[in-house]
Amino acid sequence: MTKGILYVVSGPSGVGKSSIIKEAMKRLKGFTFSISYTTRKPRPGEVNGKDYFFVDEKTFDEMVKNNEFLEYAEVHGHKYGTSKSFIKEKINEGFSIVLDIDVQGALNVVKQMRKETVLIFIAPPSYSELKKRLLNRGTEKMEDLKRRLEDAKWELSKINEFDYLIVNEDLNESINQLISIFIAEQIKTERVTEHLGNYSFFKFEEE
Ligand code: GDP
Ligand code: ADP
Ligand code: 5GP
Repeated sequence: MTKGILYVVSGPSGVGKSSIIKEAMKRLKGFTFSISYTTRKPRPGEVNGKDYFFVDEKTFDEMVKNNEFLEYAEVHGHKYGTSKSFIKEKINEGFSIVLDIDVQGALNVVKQMRKETVLIFIAPPSYSELKKRLLNRGTEKMEDLKRRLEDAKWELSKINEFDYLIVNEDLNESINQLISIFIAEQIKTERVTEHLGNYSFFKFEEE
């Protein structure tokens, strides 16, 4: 059985990760989104079990203790974690999974599952544009917004550790770029030949 691919999409808050992922997944079949657990409060419009599993600190800490996370991190003052059982099961069943996690989490996942993982960084065209998008989204108090912009500096310093870099200037182009990465990774020679098993291309020479 061929293993699935873990597409890890990361980058600063407000850069457009959710917007790009949502639309790319609408246009493709067979991709599953990994729903994280978080202690952050839901934003207006966010649905429990769809965007995140919203849990309290006590529940989260309990899950950490029980070793239920593939990775978890404290990001911009809240805790976020990826379910280990969900990822392991889906990957073993051959599904392609998309993760929207922070840079620390991304580098943590790749350490554990290099072969299955594709790291994708989404960067803003400029720092001022990032600021503008976060302000326009209007989901954070000024204090939280400043923290996210401050955290962005460290996050942007890790770009070179990623396999792909999408500069999200034009949203539609970024969506197309993400879709291209998804498809290209699926048809990498090593993955296709693994999938074909004993099938041999040399047979063609004999015919
Ligand atoms: P947004 O980035 O502004 O959409 O804000 P969110 O509050 O939705 O997420 C904050 C940060 O936490 C983002 O960088 C997410 O990528 C990251 N994040 C979400 N889920 C997880 C997770 O399961 N693990 C880790 N390590 N980070 C996560
Ligand atoms: P993230 O998930 O990375 O925090 P979002 O997807 O919530 O980011 O996007 C942040 C804001 O920027 C949203 O209001 C979104 O509509 C807007 N946005 C996303 N991509 C672009 C883009 N290419 N040009 C202009 N605005 C964008
Ligand atoms: P500051 O600007 O206060 O030094 O750091 C801003 C943010 O960058 C921190 O809140 C943290 O999320 C991140 N950061 C800085 N250095 C490190 C590091 O060495 N490891 C991790 N995981 N995060 C860091």
